[in-house]
Amino acid sequence: HMSLSKIIAIANQKGGVGKTTTAINLSSALGILEQKVLLIDADPQANATSGLGILSKNLAVSIVNLFQGDDINAEQCIIKTHSPNLKIIPGSLKLSKFEINLNNSNLNRLKLAIKTLRGKFDFILIDCSSSLGYLTLNSFVASDSIIIPLQCEFYAMDGLRNLLTTIKRIKKMFNSKLTIEGILMTMYDNRLTHNRHIINELKTNFKDLIFKTIIKRNTSISEAPSFGMSVLNYKINSEGSSNYLNLSREIMNNQTSKRQKSLAKKIPEILKDNEEDISNILTSIERNLDYFRSVSLKDKKFDQLIGYTKKEVIIYFGLEYNDIHSNTWMYYITNKVSLFKKNYLYIFFFQNKVIEFKLRRFKLS
Ligand code: ADP
Ligand code: MG
Repeated sequence: HMSLSKIIAIANQKGGVGKTTTAINLSSALGILEQKVLLIDADPQANATSGLGILSKNLAVSIVNLFQGDDINAEQCIIKTHSPNLKIIPGSLKLSKFEINLNNSNLNRLKLAIKTLRGKFDFILIDCSSSLGYLTLNSFVASDSIIIPLQCEFYAMDGLRNLLTTIKRIKKMFNSKLTIEGILMTMYDNRLTHNRHIINELKTNFKDLIFKTIIKRNTSISEAPSFGMSVLNYKINSEGSSNYLNLSREIMNNQTSKRQKSLAKKIPEILKDNEEDISNILTSIERNLDYFRSVSLKDKKFDQLIGYTKKEVIIYFGLEYNDIHSNTWMYYITNKVSLFKKNYLYIFFFQNKVIEFKLRRFKLS
């Protein structure tokens, strides 16, 4: 059944959004579903390598060999992992030195280096670093599509405009077949209203471009790398494992189904030469998110606050001037000021969660 490999870069120049987590767990899940998978760790931090229990400093070969431009056979750089059907080209801390030597004239180095691997795997996934430097651009030139993980939070959109514009430029100048495989929402918490707002905004505007599968925040996912395993090898019954298995099935289906066609229609719209398309979509989302970001205290149903953490209260109100160590926070409610009195909202925390709130009035001195 072996056909041409699908090469997918996992990228977002924002750090901590779940790129490496997705690279490890998606590749492991695809392997468990009997796909032949190669993971390429193209991040100098080499977290995907260590997350799979491989010590990169003890290895004779790594991704560095592919960037040296020697006549190296990429197959010599591949090593096995403990996860079924999953192999890896390990990362290396030395990779950061090579980024300095790269420029616009060698953006196809990775593409050329892995050319011989096409056809040997069903999926080749590339874990990119948190930057749009030459290493990441090399990955875009070498790939068929890109998965963009976005963390479900207000600042999720930061940098998205830049990322999409960069993808468009690479598509136009070096890799006309490049598409977006999908935008993946990560670390979702359905107890948080702002998480739901963000998902709704993105779904309305990006439609099919958002994966149906959403990755929830899950402790097994964050624990697994310290055991050198994917979440599937660590706890197969966890919600994290089932999320990444679902994502694998969705991506496998997309390679063949009709949905790929409707997706394919949407992508050129977004990647059109006209840069305004992206800008318009993003601006409208950003405007709506700004609305949620700056809700005024007057419109709040305060009883929704019970159980919120300090961080969530800050995000909810968009206010940041309270001492994080204090267990009583005070907000001045502007709209209720009368000539003689000022109104304050007191929020009481216990063990970082809101347990009580009170509206208090004070006479102006
Ligand atoms: P990136 O590669 O984009 O910098 P990572 O994949 O390293 O981001 O994730 C950043 C942090 O968030 C890590 O500590 C990781 O364990 C944690 N994390 C990522 N996804 C989840 C999730 N779904 N649930 C819980 N923790 C997560
Ligand atoms: Mg990473």
